[in-house]
Amino acid sequence: MSTPRLPGSPRTALVREPGPRVSEMVHALLDAGCTVSVASDDPGPELRDLHGRGLVALVAADAETGADLVVRDRTHEPRPTAASSPSPASGLPGMGEVVLVGGGPGAADLITVAGLQELRQADVVVHDRLAPIGLLDQTPEHCLLVPVGKIPRSDFTPQERINELLVGHALEGRRVVRLKGGDSFVFGRGGEEWLACTEAGVPVRVVPGVTSAVAAPALAGLPVTHREVTSGFVVVSGHVGPDDERNAVNWQALADAGLTIVLLMGVATLPAIAERLLACGMPPETPAAVVADAGMPSQRRVRAPLPQIAARAAAEGVGAPAVAVIGRVAAVLPEDRPAASSATAREEAVATPGHPTPSGG
Ligand code: SAH
Repeated sequence: MSTPRLPGSPRTALVREPGPRVSEMVHALLDAGCTVSVASDDPGPELRDLHGRGLVALVAADAETGADLVVRDRTHEPRPTAASSPSPASGLPGMGEVVLVGGGPGAADLITVAGLQELRQADVVVHDRLAPIGLLDQTPEHCLLVPVGKIPRSDFTPQERINELLVGHALEGRRVVRLKGGDSFVFGRGGEEWLACTEAGVPVRVVPGVTSAVAAPALAGLPVTHREVTSGFVVVSGHVGPDDERNAVNWQALADAGLTIVLLMGVATLPAIAERLLACGMPPETPAAVVADAGMPSQRRVRAPLPQIAARAAAEGVGAPAVAVIGRVAAVLPEDRPAASSATAREEAVATPGHPTPSGG
């Protein structure tokens, strides 16, 4: 598939016969500024996830939507995938390497130049769901693509298996890119993958990425620091709630610190975390915000004082993947900005190639 990139190119796209690479295709179309529908009577977990995040509309398999562009899933064009070809590029003589590439929050243009260069030279890409998977199009033809992303409430690849994949391919002489959302070392298990490589004697490098901890607030007009409001921010995982014994966070210290709290993986635990911070003495008027799918066309934001934020986010469908921001910075910039929403701004940027992305203004 060649993704339409010209100004005035298709605005609505319909994907027919979705196959194993439907996510990649949908992301490439979204990155090109299209509104995407997928024709399927039996959507699998990947499609249901994209639909749940508001990234695609689902229509019946035989639907005629009058879309500007109708595309079929690329599984019809042979390309190695984990299932079809276990060893793509015949291993190079000698040792390969692993590069841990942080892909940014998910939009194609928020990866670094260095990260994109690594993708363009990869023999194998092991990628997550929240990575900028629209860019997999730019990997060499022979490159093996291995999705290991965790779709909520669906199958996932255990970390040990991911480590084995990275090490195994590198030992066979391949250039392996581990592509993640955000930055590999911010709740990305990059340290574990690094250790697995060094323990196996495999060379490993890191290309840092734009973490969603900073990018999601920024794209939604929420500065994580602001002069005379707060002099710092702390990034916390909400993967397990404050009452879970695996959670070692000192909530009292956080409530007292006067720092912006940026919460990742915290949609489900936000009610309990807000309650705990309030119980630790955080003022009930503390502003808070939740930003979902930052940088994607389905980006949404909600703001409310801390006691109401979880219920407001739930009521407005601002769900995972999302970043919560707690602290006075959440109310420091006005609600109505002269610039269009960042999603619209990004669309304009796509329509004007080479023009700097005006998002975040
Ligand atoms: N390494 C990643 C974080 C991985 S943990 C990084 O540095 O960004 C996964 C969490 O990241 C999600 O639960 C969500 O809290 C956040 N996240 C990732 N991409 C996001 C996006 N586009 N919008 C909002 N939150 C996002």
